[in-house]
Amino acid sequence: TYDLTGKRIWVAGHRGMVGGAVVRRLAQEDCEVIRAGREVVDLLDQRAVGDWMQATRPDAIVLAAAKVGGIHANDTRPVEFLYENLMIEANILHAAHAADVGRLLFLGSSCIYPRMAPQPITEDSLLTGPLEATNEWYAIAKIAGIKLVQAHRKQFGRAWISAMPTNLYGPGDNYDLHSSHVLPALLRKFHEARARGEGQVVVWGSGKPLREFLHCDDLADALVFLLRHYDGYEHINVGSGAEVSIRELAETIAEVVGFEADLVFDASRPDGTPRKLMDSSRLHALGWNRARGLKDGIRSTYAAFLAEGL
Ligand code: GDP
Repeated sequence: TYDLTGKRIWVAGHRGMVGGAVVRRLAQEDCEVIRAGREVVDLLDQRAVGDWMQATRPDAIVLAAAKVGGIHANDTRPVEFLYENLMIEANILHAAHAADVGRLLFLGSSCIYPRMAPQPITEDSLLTGPLEATNEWYAIAKIAGIKLVQAHRKQFGRAWISAMPTNLYGPGDNYDLHSSHVLPALLRKFHEARARGEGQVVVWGSGKPLREFLHCDDLADALVFLLRHYDGYEHINVGSGAEVSIRELAETIAEVVGFEADLVFDASRPDGTPRKLMDSSRLHALGWNRARGLKDGIRSTYAAFLAEGL
């Protein structure tokens, strides 16, 4: 096991939903959390990252910095999703090795797997088939990141690892309707429909795709568990088992917001991958299996949404 006591841990991407959750979770441990916002170090700038890393020399890194977004953002801004994610991970991993950072946890996503991967998706589905077209840019960057972590293990014996979370939600999410993921988008749409007394909510696509949703605080708990207990070459899936269709998700959100509206399915929008359910049995076998239920998670997320404001 990796002892967190007294360690200086850089959470890259601490202003994001995942990074923020990891910072909150690490606050319960006897370690020092290092933050460095964009004004301190531009992660797209190789020299800036190298200089900052040499000056800071963290013991460990949780790499939660990434260019992220929902299906529309991924589909329409491929250059940003491919280029920025490649640069962020290449710069950080390269600088971390040069500064002799002994422990590192890299974060990917369930979209790294082939579109038609057998479900639930096991870790060894990676690179067995073509990717989903709407997010292949992001996926290729994240696959390169997994491989760069593995290359550092293989060539230099680094105790670096990767985790692949399923679709995430929770406090600090992005509620911009053009770039957000489905769960925050539908929370906002139902909230605004109630406020305006509108009888309809538009849902993109057919409503039939199946997605699994994990609360970011549950992810953070699993990541701290992996940081402590996992030191292997394979990336590890982090799922919740909470799988619903997009239609069912909309109905659950309607209940939580307390507003009935007719669902209008917009067929001009893409469905994306038909199904994306993680097999998290490796994580369970390692000893972590504590994901909360979806409705509870949406309830507390809606409360946070109301408190945060838009
Ligand atoms: P994905 O898991 O990478 O496909 O990302 P998303 O969370 O953006 O989308 C998941 C599914 O929800 C897709 O089938 C979308 O078409 C569907 N969806 C329905 N309504 C919305 C919406 O308002 N915003 C987004 N982003 N997706 C929506």
